[in-house]
Amino acid sequence: MINFHGIGEASRPYEAGERPFWISRHEFLNVLDLVRSNSDVVDFKLTFDDGNSSDYEIAAQELRKRSLEASFFVLAGKFQQPGYLTQTQVRELAGEGFQIGSHGLNHVDWTGADDRELADELSGSKSILEEVVGRPVASAAIPFGLYDRRVLNALRRAGYRDVYSSDGSARLSKAWPTPRYSVQGGLDAGRLVETVRHGRLFDRLNNELRLRVKASLSRSIVRRMKQLGR
Ligand SMILES: [Zn+2]
Repeated sequence: MINFHGIGEASRPYEAGERPFWISRHEFLNVLDLVRSNSDVVDFKLTFDDGNSSDYEIAAQELRKRSLEASFFVLAGKFQQPGYLTQTQVRELAGEGFQIGSHGLNHVDWTGADDRELADELSGSKSILEEVVGRPVASAAIPFGLYDRRVLNALRRAGYRDVYSSDGSARLSKAWPTPRYSVQGGLDAGRLVETVRHGRLFDRLNNELRLRVKASLSRSIVRRMKQLGR
C-alpha cells in the first residue's frame, strides 16, 4: 500500500514535521504512472491522509484519468479550514466511487489523547463522515502512525474494521493495522513501486505456501486417521 499526504504546495501553514511528506505534482504523476503500468501484475492500494485540498484538486483528477481507485482518509474536524477538503468535496469524491475513511477530527496523536478525546476522534469523526457521505464508514488511518493497544481496542470498539498504520512494510494478510509505505518528497518512484511490488508478491507467495502447507497437513491427518480407523 502506498500512502500520500499532500501534492504540490500547501495553501496553509505546514504542521511541524509535515513538509517532507508533500511531494511535487511531477513526483506524484510518476508514481501513478508506474502503479498504472504495473497494475496487471500487482494490486496496488493507494491511500491519501490528512484530507488536503490537493486530494480533490490534483489527486482525484489524475486517478480518474488512469482509472485507479483510492481511499481518502480525511480530517472531519477541518472541513471549514483553508487548505483542507470541504464537506462538499468529500461527498463528491465518495459519489465518484472513492473510499472515504477517517483520520480523526483534528490530527492529534491518539496515543496521547485521554479517553474522552479519543472517543471524539474515533466515534465523532465516524458519525460526521457517515453523515457527509451517506454511507457507513468503517476504515481509519492512524495519525502519525502512532498507536498502542488502547488505541487499537478503541478503534475496534468504535466499529472500524479496516485500520491503516504507516509502518512501512509488506502487507501481511493477517496484519492489523495494515502497514503502508508513506511517500516523501525526493522519492525514487521506481524504487518505491518495486519495493511495494516485491512486498505484494512476497505476501502472495507466502499465503499460497501457507495454504499449501495447511492443505497437505490436513491431507496427512485424514490419511493417518483412516489408517488408525482401519
Ligand atoms: Zn496525518
